[in-house]
Amino acid sequence: MSKVKSSETVKVVVRCRPLNRKEAAGVTGTPGGRGGIVEMDVHRGQVVLRNPRALPGEPQKTFTFDSVYDASSRQRDLYDETVRPLIHSVLDGFNGTIFAYGQTGTGKTYTMQGAWLEPERRGVIPNAFEHVFTQISRSAADRQYLVRASYLEIYREEIRDLLDPNLRESPESGVYVRDLTSCVCKSVKEIEELMNLGNQVRSVGATDMNEHSSRSHTLFLITVECSQMGPDGRQHIRVGRLNLVDLAGSERQAKTGVHGERLKEAAKINLSLSALGNVISALADGCSGHVPYRDSKLTRLLQDSLGGNAKTVMVETLTTLRYANRAK
Ligand code: ADP
Ligand code: MG
Repeated sequence: MSKVKSSETVKVVVRCRPLNRKEAAGVTGTPGGRGGIVEMDVHRGQVVLRNPRALPGEPQKTFTFDSVYDASSRQRDLYDETVRPLIHSVLDGFNGTIFAYGQTGTGKTYTMQGAWLEPERRGVIPNAFEHVFTQISRSAADRQYLVRASYLEIYREEIRDLLDPNLRESPESGVYVRDLTSCVCKSVKEIEELMNLGNQVRSVGATDMNEHSSRSHTLFLITVECSQMGPDGRQHIRVGRLNLVDLAGSERQAKTGVHGERLKEAAKINLSLSALGNVISALADGCSGHVPYRDSKLTRLLQDSLGGNAKTVMVETLTTLRYANRAK
């Protein structure tokens, strides 16, 4: 998705995770190691791919993003610059979505969740929970807020409501957000408990949770309703929704050696991912023409949160090693 242009409604940022110990050992242990092939220019917001075998003068590939977070970036940096403004607009009654997009192992879940119990390593979701309730507690006394949350996953193009796993989608009408279970949350603690409950449901039936999470899209949705007495003496209600999305791995699935069920599953993952790519590109291009929302469960579900007045942030995660492989 690096070809996406930025606009008012869609921002694309990139984050590179640090090498883990094994990878770092491999890099330094290899003569002429693979390190340094991806260069991140945080100030310019650019990622430069260098081909070590390029001839002198051969052009290198440069991609420009709204922000670039390198391996030394902290969870807080990304939150404060990129997520915080989105939460404010949700509290003002607009819809906003944050996607983590990238291959398996590049840091999507780390970015969205991180380590909940370590303040420095808490990701977008725990920080957003905290932030929403802090803002509400500081708001003017004449405003009343109601926070509701839904939690679901899309696996093989099927929606699973993690707060009511017995709920089945109707084949005729498809699924809309209004059909999902939504629970009122009055505090950070309550919303965290809800997420834990959903996580338990999520893990039921998954033999290998890592595999399962690399193949499913996880969506945590927070609806914030604000009611306030207007100058006309009437109660006015604004509703904003925040969608926190950890996407399935974007690796090319249809490699040789993938057959049968696995291949069907791969095609279904790619359906939602490629439909999302098409919607985001159409929106980022600012084209007034057809936006193909209906092409997948994911885009249909998020339709009223993509485009229009809604704001979208795509966090593209990567590791230098994978890019190095691709650049070869
Ligand atoms: P994904 O969800 O994309 O498959 P993960 O978030 O599970 O990837 O990340 C893979 C591994 O890398 C995990 O062990 C995670 O803790 C670690 N990791 C990812 N991003 C970072 C980061 N920015 N800083 C430190 N460790 C990270
Ligand atoms: Mg993950």
